[in-house]
Amino acid sequence: MTEPNPPRQGAVGRRTLLKALGVGGIAAAAGAAARTGAASASTSTSLNDVIVIGAGFAGITAARALRAQGVRAVVLEARDRIGGRTWTTTFAGEQVELGGQWLAESQPLAAAELRRYNIPLISDPDSFPDVAYYPAAEGPRAFDFLSANDHLGTLLAKLFDGTRDYFPRPYEPLYARDLVTGVDKLSLAARLDQLGLSTQDRLWLQGVTDSYSGGDSRTRGLTSMAQWWALGGHTHAGWDAQVATRPQGGMIGLLQRILADAAPDLRLNTPVTTISDNGRQVDVTTRDGRVLSARAVIVAVPANVWRTLRFTAGLPAVHTAASRFGLGVPNVVKFWFRTTGDNGRVYATGRPGDPVSLLLPQRVLANGDVLSVGFAEDPALDITDRAAVEAAIRRIAPGTKLLEHAYGPWGRDRYSLGAWGMRGPNQLVHLPTIQQPHGRLAFATGDIASGWNGAYVDGAIESGMRAARQALDLLQAA
Ligand SMILES: Cc1cc2nc3c(=O)[nH]c(=O)nc-3n(C[C@H](O)[C@H](O)[C@H](O)COP(=O)(O)OP(=O)(O)OC[C@H]3O[C@@H](n4cnc5c(N)ncnc54)[C@H](O)[C@@H]3O)c2cc1C
Repeated sequence: MTEPNPPRQGAVGRRTLLKALGVGGIAAAAGAAARTGAASASTSTSLNDVIVIGAGFAGITAARALRAQGVRAVVLEARDRIGGRTWTTTFAGEQVELGGQWLAESQPLAAAELRRYNIPLISDPDSFPDVAYYPAAEGPRAFDFLSANDHLGTLLAKLFDGTRDYFPRPYEPLYARDLVTGVDKLSLAARLDQLGLSTQDRLWLQGVTDSYSGGDSRTRGLTSMAQWWALGGHTHAGWDAQVATRPQGGMIGLLQRILADAAPDLRLNTPVTTISDNGRQVDVTTRDGRVLSARAVIVAVPANVWRTLRFTAGLPAVHTAASRFGLGVPNVVKFWFRTTGDNGRVYATGRPGDPVSLLLPQRVLANGDVLSVGFAEDPALDITDRAAVEAAIRRIAPGTKLLEHAYGPWGRDRYSLGAWGMRGPNQLVHLPTIQQPHGRLAFATGDIASGWNGAYVDGAIESGMRAARQALDLLQAA
């Protein structure tokens, strides 16, 4: 996917581009860009229009939106692959996702992309469990899945009671600002405390909130999960629908289609270290010391990664605080694992403190082996150690015999430093500020989306589109 000899790109004024668009559309604009490119983009003497840092869904969507306006972005990606916190790979001969996996019709921007590229949503027929373990006082206990899931739905409805009032317009999370400001103060743990649950109900519900929180419900605010509930229609069915279907061909199939339309100057294996905005242009330094310059830059790395980049002109306090806090939840490892079919398709949720919080059966192979997804949050768990992982799984699903596993260690990965985004208490109120450009920098990441924020590709698409508009405004204003 890397272009060995990327086409050169030079400074093209926004007016030039619009003029080119007026006479000949995108092809003419792209041609204009190519013709005016006099110097190599890999030196500080060449001024690109827009550099996008990060080739996840946010960055690639931003690049496509720019391309639609005749601006061909340079995309700098640290890893040797596109996709970021989505990572489609092969395990046990099957295509699997080690990061983002599910998309749903109720996610409007993701659904629009699927329609645009004629990609169907499919479900895994083997995801309905034969056995379902939930925590009980004595340890994991098998329950009838449908009735247990119904009960969990009742508990979730209690947890999110009030969302119709404080999120009346879920895509505008601050619409009921007075009401939601009060809710924003609450951590998930504080909200659980308000509910007066029985010991077992608390175990069940906190098992869910801890899992989403990366291990500790005290650290995350109520508002992210409550907003997802509202976005799904304020119902348990809407909640469950978010983890039921996936794009045929995987997340990578969708992203490659977007990339093809974006046709950026993509440079893989190019980690950025320093971003210097002098008010007229931005110089971006890569780890090998090269400097690329642009009139606007879209920073499309995870919010947690902002703290590892050097912004010579500084960052607004709200960005610094969010990155230090870590919008991306810590410690999460998502893993796929293969078991013999002896125990059937096993679903399990852990209790607070368990090293593994959730197991979801997905597929049964031709030989009867079962492929499942697991989530682990314990930083002490050595995910590379098969025996340790098997022991951790057995804590919530007794008798599991682990044959092999594959994993995405998001919290320990320097280019994500966390998994999905989830706000802490008192952070929703800062959303409008954190979405604003700073100087000649615009920010794109699902972590700061208005709608399906943090844990959803839909939000990454939303933020990429916003950042592209902001970058175009910066070009126009120049
Ligand atoms: C385990 C897990 C499960 C998830 N499940 C789902 C799901 O089922 N459905 C769903 O919709 N969403 C899910 N999500 C969330 C979804 O994957 C993310 O919200 C989305 O992928 C974020 O996209 P992004 O572009 O904002 O960030 P990223 O995908 O993280 O992209 C950022 C890019 O920036 C690059 N980068 C970082 N540092 C640098 C640097 N210094 N220089 C250059 N490049 C750099 C990274 O390598 C990366 O490619 C999940 C996430 C995780 C981690």
